[in-house]
Amino acid sequence: MAYLTLKGINKIYPNGFHAVHDFNLEIERGEFIVFVGPSGCGKSTTLRMIAGLENISNGEFFINGKRANEMGPREREVAMVFQSYALYPHMSVYDNMAFGLSLQGVDDDVIEEKVQETARILGLTDYLDRKPRALSGGQRQRVAVGRAIIRKVGIFLMDEPLSNLDAKQRVTMRSEITDIHRKVGATTIYVTHDQTEAMTMADRIVVMRDGYIQQIGTPYDLYFKPVNMFVAGFIGEPPMNFITSTVQNGKIMVGSKELALNAVLAADKLASYEGKKIVLGFRPEATLLGKQEDSYVLNAEVELTELLGDNTNVYIDMEGVKSILKVDPHTTPAMDTQVEFSIPYKNVYLFDGETEEVIDMGR
Ligand code: ATP
Repeated sequence: MAYLTLKGINKIYPNGFHAVHDFNLEIERGEFIVFVGPSGCGKSTTLRMIAGLENISNGEFFINGKRANEMGPREREVAMVFQSYALYPHMSVYDNMAFGLSLQGVDDDVIEEKVQETARILGLTDYLDRKPRALSGGQRQRVAVGRAIIRKVGIFLMDEPLSNLDAKQRVTMRSEITDIHRKVGATTIYVTHDQTEAMTMADRIVVMRDGYIQQIGTPYDLYFKPVNMFVAGFIGEPPMNFITSTVQNGKIMVGSKELALNAVLAADKLASYEGKKIVLGFRPEATLLGKQEDSYVLNAEVELTELLGDNTNVYIDMEGVKSILKVDPHTTPAMDTQVEFSIPYKNVYLFDGETEEVIDMGR
């Protein structure tokens, strides 16, 4: 039996807005689950329903097989870390972490032991006497995490906890949170709009859009086996390139270049798309410069190059069709020149132009 079960969960706000539609998910004990999607897709609403801060309009939520819809936040044994750490400014780091336990009437010596242990896990031992204002953003974040994990609850909920940190701190905290999760082992649900956080931290990712789940899977599955154009475009940076075209005689046009789709799609399937809109997808990093075997070979004009250090993003134009290639910085083509590049057949995706769903290419 799964530890947490969300069955047909819906949220309709009092103003009638339907924020979450038919959300189904089973979470195993100890899993690190990330809800990801653009602003307004319903991630926080779903998290708040799990926390018991928002009522569930429709559907059932189970903790350990027990219906939890009517349980209060305390009974659910959840701890939550918010974007705005919500630390008590007049209390020391020690007291911020100890506060929840004192309220529960835990003995002082037990509190002392727990605070010290949590501070050790989080590298806060030297800061226990300080007030939050005398800490860096990353340290404050760790206190907020400490305050949550000290209670040894079963479910750990985090809503965009790294969004107030600078880029470098975010990278550090990302691995710290993963590390803490490994040590503490609590079931964690983490909300973010940042696909890199999702990819690097999650056991499984739930991609949401407009209140609907698009796909649930491991980071590997979402990157290599996206079910639709939304997921394919959301996971990966820069995003997957899409070229929309109509199939004619089994071929599509990219500018004035014809690509025969029988190289990637079985004849019967291809026949069913004759005369229909289809979208060719390929990732910027899944291309090669020059003419390669078993690939579509295309020519393009280089409009702009961006050296990022470990690679270069090359913005190209194929007679009006724009794409991005990711290349080795040592082989960056010059701007305003022509470049020849290849997309290996195995790296090609096709999507139905109407439904935007991926077409099963049998691999
Ligand atoms: P963000 O990343 O911006 O926090 P999110 O994916 O977490 O976005 P939610 O906060 O869950 O999104 O909001 C989902 C939708 O529900 C949004 O369109 C939002 O405007 C709407 N919404 C949120 N709270 C309420 C409310 N109390 N009443 C009505 N609509 C609400």
